[in-house]
Amino acid sequence: MTANDDIVVIVRELDVVVERAGGLFLGRRHALPPFADPPVFLGRFEDRGWYAARARPDVELPAELAFASVRSLFSELPEPTLNILGRALAGVEFAETHRHCGRCGAATEPGPSASDDREPSAGEQTRRCPRCGLSVHPRIAPAVIVLVEREDRVLLARSARFPPGRFSAVAGFVEIGESLEQAAAREVGEEVGVQIRDLTYFGSQPWPFGRSLMIGFSAAYAGGTLTPDGVEIVEADWFPRDQLPDLPPKVSIARRLIDAFVQRPSPRS
Ligand SMILES: [Zn+2]
Repeated sequence: MTANDDIVVIVRELDVVVERAGGLFLGRRHALPPFADPPVFLGRFEDRGWYAARARPDVELPAELAFASVRSLFSELPEPTLNILGRALAGVEFAETHRHCGRCGAATEPGPSASDDREPSAGEQTRRCPRCGLSVHPRIAPAVIVLVEREDRVLLARSARFPPGRFSAVAGFVEIGESLEQAAAREVGEEVGVQIRDLTYFGSQPWPFGRSLMIGFSAAYAGGTLTPDGVEIVEADWFPRDQLPDLPPKVSIARRLIDAFVQRPSPRS
C-alpha cells in the first residue's frame, strides 16, 4: 500500500458522509474532494492511513452523497468501522477545539509525526505549540456501565435520551479522583437508588460520542428500593430474562452485557 491509498472520512459534527447507494463515502487523501477541509490523521488500519476531514459548510455534496448520523449507522456497521468513525468525529473535533495553545495562545500545528513527509504512526493526533513547545493529546472520558442482577432478573433503566420503549444498563462518566468501582456504585445509587456488591469486570468499548471509553461491569443487588432519579433516568424496572424490553443495538457493550446475562445458565444470587 502507498500513501495514494490513504482514506479520508468526511464528517460534520456527529454526521458522516455516506454514498446514497449504500456504505461510507471513502475519499482519497491525494485527490481530496472539494467539499472537504484539510484532513487530520487518525491512524493506520488494515495497512492504510486513515484521515478525517470536516465537510466545508459552503460547498454542497454531490447528488450521489448524503450526510447520515453516526448514531443511525450504529446497528448497521461492523465494530472496526464504528471505531474508525469514533476516531474521525473525535479527531476533527480535537483539531477544531485545539487550534490555539492553552498556555501561550499561539496557533498550534499538527504534531511532528502527522506531517506529510513522515509516515504517521497510529494514534498520534498531537497538536503542538511552535512558540512554547506545549504538546496536547486528545483525551478520553471513561464511563462505567453496570448491569445489576437480582436472582433471575436484571435492572434496566430508560434514559430520557432513549427512543420510546428502549431500556439499558445504568451508565455514567467517571469523575476525577474516583476509581471505576466507586463510579459504578455512585452512578447506580444516584440514578436508581440501589446498592450493589460483587462488581465484576465484563469488557470495554470505545464509544464514538463524547470521546468516551465505556467500561462494562456486572454486579449483584445489595439493597435499596428502585427509585429512578427522574432526571437522567425516567423509568427503571427489574426484568426477567425472558421478558426483556426493547434493548440497545447488538454492537453496543450494553447489549453484550445483557445478552451474556440471558445466555448464562444459572443466575447469581
Ligand atoms: Zn504555547
